[in-house]
Amino acid sequence: MPPALKHLLAPTYTFDRVEVIDLEGWWAAGLRGMILDVDDTLTLKNSALVAPPVQAWLKQARQMGFHCYIVSNNRYPRHIARVAETLEMEGLAQARKPFSPGFLQALAAMQLSPEQVVVIGDRLLTDILGGAWLGMQTCLVAPVTSQPKALKRLLYGFEKGLSRLAGTRPPFSADSSDSQT
Ligand SMILES: [Mg+2]
Repeated sequence: MPPALKHLLAPTYTFDRVEVIDLEGWWAAGLRGMILDVDDTLTLKNSALVAPPVQAWLKQARQMGFHCYIVSNNRYPRHIARVAETLEMEGLAQARKPFSPGFLQALAAMQLSPEQVVVIGDRLLTDILGGAWLGMQTCLVAPVTSQPKALKRLLYGFEKGLSRLAGTRPPFSADSSDSQT
């Protein structure tokens, strides 16, 4: 794999769950904003339910002064608006990640430069690739889905192979078969 592509697919951070991320550490590292994926990162796909520990973590982030912005590929703007409203932040649906316009809209709204922002998501080829492309830091989290459907499992398997080529070991713990690798 060419070094440039390798870099684009290697997340800066990897975590099992968003709520274990050390916000103080991120703040100390100069980060001031987060671009958040929704489906399988903050919620189960198409669910508006955000688990209390995730809500508490996001609340703490905002209290510390982090700017937060949702950038989702979900095709239902009303659904994403509902999640965003619950979390008291702005959000964008149909963002077409990994392409840049949605990320750029978020950066403009937060009035931050790419180096100050981390993109958090569960997918290498949308969240991580798109964020790294614009020079942002990236954080791959394991999907909150407990039982990935067949297609999703295929995608995760494919992306896991890619990440292995890129020399990283992402926390794809949603699928039990992944824990053996
Ligand atoms: Mg996602």
